[in-house]
Parts: sequence; structure tokens; C-alpha cells
Amino acid sequence: MHPETRVVHAGQEIDAATGAVAQPIHLSTTFERDADGEYSRGHVYTRDTNPNRLTLENVLAQLEGGAAAAAFSSGSVATMTLLQALRAGDHVLAPDNFYFGIQKIIRELFADWNLEHSFVDMTDIDAVKAGLRPNTRLVLLETPSNPLMKVSDIAAIASLAHEAGALLACDNTIASPLLQQPLLHGADFVIHATTKYLGGHSDVLGGAVIAREEGEMWSRVQMLQRVGGAVASPFDSWLVLRGIQTLALRINAHASNALELATRLETHPVIAAVLYPGLESHPQHAIASKQMSGYGGLLSILVHGDAARAMEVAAKTKLFIRATSFGGTHSLIEHRASVEAPGTLTPQNLLRLSVGIEHVEDLWEDLTQALA
Ligand SMILES: *Cc1c(COP(=O)(O)O)cnc(C)c1O
Repeated sequence: MHPETRVVHAGQEIDAATGAVAQPIHLSTTFERDADGEYSRGHVYTRDTNPNRLTLENVLAQLEGGAAAAAFSSGSVATMTLLQALRAGDHVLAPDNFYFGIQKIIRELFADWNLEHSFVDMTDIDAVKAGLRPNTRLVLLETPSNPLMKVSDIAAIASLAHEAGALLACDNTIASPLLQQPLLHGADFVIHATTKYLGGHSDVLGGAVIAREEGEMWSRVQMLQRVGGAVASPFDSWLVLRGIQTLALRINAHASNALELATRLETHPVIAAVLYPGLESHPQHAIASKQMSGYGGLLSILVHGDAARAMEVAAKTKLFIRATSFGGTHSLIEHRASVEAPGTLTPQNLLRLSVGIEHVEDLWEDLTQALA
């Protein structure tokens, strides 16, 4: 099946009881047990499994080419669960510009539980190699990264991690499974904030971990999900599944708008730099072209000047909404450094653009008047 067909049909079965084409939302927390004590219909209690969540998990596993998936109530708790599945004394290696909320958790909470950590520039293979320790059990990667849009070589980092006895988990939120499939490049786990492109409409919070194989680490992740219960609710699962059906249409519109805007912005006089992996000027453009089938809808611009100048530009946009997050149909603009922690590597003159699916000429007109 082609991706356009797969996103529409994956996991979508006609409801046996009613013939409903769209899956009904199953709010029931508990499921009837057979007279002989068995659960022949497969569900016991909704924290363990729920029909809507199970459908979402099956679809996500199919889209990423994985053996299994676990859907969570946020992208952040998906990554946190991988960290919780490690043991005291293990070491985790993560990118120096990793999603700032998770960085904070690693530094401020997991350190107290004796989880060792270090952060390196994942575009520097020698730094990755030097960062691996005998007790490294997990390498976390985010490519493209956010908001610096750095691209790392998934296959190269997977082999280094494996040689060192570690597993590789790649956050694939920015690319989506239609533009990049990390498991096919050797990653062991994929992480998603389904809040972004998979949900696609800025109206649902969710996350997922997808596993290439159902090994020991996977069992621990699934136990944490099912015993702890930080699960995607039936309605949230349904919303993400609804979003996935149009993912192919949306991601191509996001990506073509973003490439067009990035190309035009690159020669705009008030712009110092455009960070977008689709540009030939991007330092890792070749790696992006090797492992991605499109470059996505997220880009960052550096304006000449300071934070105040960047804020001034954001203040003037009319279509681009000043808001955090990305992956929805609306275009968003954000001064990223001011929402991250002090000490962030994000430059003060950086604005992150989540390019939506509007007409590109309307977006261009909005940006040019705001930059003027
Ligand atoms: C948004 C995001 C997260 C966190 O997801 P939430 O659903 O907001 O918890 C994690 N990783 C990346 C790359 C993200 O963009």
C-alpha cells in the first residue's frame, strides 16, 4: 500500500455490531468477563487496553514499521516512560538541544534516582562516540531537532549505540512517519508527540512509543504504561486516528509551503539565517535527503538584531498566530528562547515558524509585511 492509502485504511475496520464506518468511541472502563472466567473479547479494563487506544497503537506501529506501540497522554510522558524503564546506575546520552522540558526532567528529577546523563551535539559523530559509556543503555535522538533544525545520521548513531550495548530511541515528531521512518534506519524505538502532525489540528495532547521488537525494554515500557495509566484516552485516541487519515495530504502541504517560504526568506534582507533541512545551504542537507522523503513544515529564522527585534516581527504577523507548538493546520510563530529555560542554546533572535496548510502566497504576504 502507498502511504496515502495506508493512513486512510490502516486499522480501520467496520464495526461488527453496527456496521459503523467510523469506529465508535468506547468510553466503558470495564469489559464483561465470560462465564468460564475468560475474556474472549480481548479487553479487561481500559487502563490495560481500550478498543480505541488499541486501534491507534496498531496504526502507529504500522506507519512506523514497528512490532508494537504504546499510546500515552502526552509526548513528554512517552519519553519519560523510556527513561523510567531504565535502571539506577544506567547512563542516558541525549542531544544538547533536546526538547527543553525533557532536559529539565533528566537534569532535575532522574539525576536524583541515580540515572546518569550527558548531552552532546548529535550532529558530531565523534562527540557521540566519545559520549558513550560502558553503562550507556539508551541514546535519545531528535532529528530534525527543535528549534535549531539540526539533522543527525540515524543509521550511524544506531550502529554506534548498538556497538556500545545501548538502544536508540528517535523522536520523530517533526518529520512524522510519512517523511522519515527511524526504525528502518536502525533505531530501536520511535517517540512521537501525537499532539503535533499526527493529531494535526492543535486540539489533542498525546504521545507514543513504537518499538522495532518486543524485547525486555519494550516490556518495561508497556508495563509502565498499563500499570501507571498515563494513557491516551478513548476520545483522544479517536481524534489522533481521525487526524492520521489526512496526514498524507497535510504533511505534503506543510512541507511544500515550508520549502517555498524557506527559499524566499533566505534572500530576504532582514533575515540573518534560515534553518530548514530542505535548503541546500543547510549543513546536514545531504543526510536529510538520505533519510527523509520530505523536509517537514517546521523552520526557524534568525533576524538581524536581538530578542526585542524578533519579538517586534512576531508582534506584526496577522495570519501566523503567536503561539507555541506546531503541526496544526494554522501557521504559528514563536519566540522560542523566551519560553525555554535560562541557559538555552536557542539564539535570542530566533523565531520558529510552524508553517500551516494555508495558501503559500497569503503566508508570504503576511511574513513580508511583518519583516518590513
Ligand atoms: C511537543 C513535543 C514533545 C512534547 O509533547 P507533549 O505532547 O507536549 O508533551 C516532545 N518532543 C517533541 C519533539 C515535541 O515537539
